[in-house]
Amino acid sequence: DLAMYTAKRSGRSRYQLYTPELDAGTRDARLRQAITDGELVLHYQPAVGLQTGEIRGVEALVRWQHPEEGLLMPGAFIALAEETGAVVPLGEWVLREGCRQVAAWQQGVAGADRITLSVNLSPQQVKQADLVDVVTGILAETGFPATRLILEITESVVLEPDELTIARLGALRDKGIRLAVDDFGTGYSALSYLQQLPVSILKIDRSYIRGIDDDERDERIAEAIVRLGLAFDLVVVAEGIETAEQARLLAEMGCTVGQGYHFHRPTPPEQTVQVLGATALKL
Ligand code: C2E
Ligand code: MG
Ligand code: MG
Ligand code: MG
Repeated sequence: DLAMYTAKRSGRSRYQLYTPELDAGTRDARLRQAITDGELVLHYQPAVGLQTGEIRGVEALVRWQHPEEGLLMPGAFIALAEETGAVVPLGEWVLREGCRQVAAWQQGVAGADRITLSVNLSPQQVKQADLVDVVTGILAETGFPATRLILEITESVVLEPDELTIARLGALRDKGIRLAVDDFGTGYSALSYLQQLPVSILKIDRSYIRGIDDDERDERIAEAIVRLGLAFDLVVVAEGIETAEQARLLAEMGCTVGQGYHFHRPTPPEQTVQVLGATALKL
């Protein structure tokens, strides 16, 4: 099916589940327990200005430190959480913990006072009537500045924005929070849909980045997406940059921000803070 095709094409194993021998209800209960028991952890991946090389911000990526199964990646549990709704309390935990952590870095690490925090919002979260209250409550509680928060939404949200969703996202934007469309190009949306939403950042999916350093057609497609994004006045972020040549080509295309193993891998907070400190000292 198309979703499966898209997942394969972008090289992900979204359909892998943890403890597949357990039924969905049991796995859901176990995940909800993990959230309240403190078994979730965040890793952080810096994003880099492609024209200047400075760290602009970090993206929070959730992991589950499972006592028996080890460190589980989101591909092993987010899809189920999305189905059962557990992704709502999970996402709230991620936002609170990310804001708490990055606020501490902004205050404690020289030169890191202006970094942004990007958090992935699931479609279920965007549908919650109290989304705006939850987000503003967490900002107040943690002291994290709204203007430094970026919420990443997926194309499925962009594609079918009902009036209430548009209003909710508009209210977030009015608070100074920025919205990014994640994994752009993997769904069915066109840039015209983006005009209906208060989106200011476009993240090009890594499946469009992978081939640009050895396939001229891939390079032309990536360049077309970068140009379109810039023409719509969006900040354009390239995901999954793994080589220096990919970084060079994207900078040449005018792409604003880069993220990927070539620059920084996602790491636990103790390592991320060292990267932030080292980079700030260099500036
Ligand atoms: P995403 O938001 O598009 O995050 C980027 C993913 O690409 C991350 O995988 C990251 O580790 C990986 N990545 C970064 N640079 C490179 C690279 O150069 N090469 C390759 N091959 N991969 C790279 P991760 O951490 O496994 O997360 C996968 C997806 O799970 C995320 O995709 C996001 O959709 C979802 N996710 C992660 N954390 C959360 C969360 O807190 N809430 C929700 N709702 N979804 C989350
Ligand atoms: Mg993301
Ligand atoms: Mg992405
Ligand atoms: Mg992606």
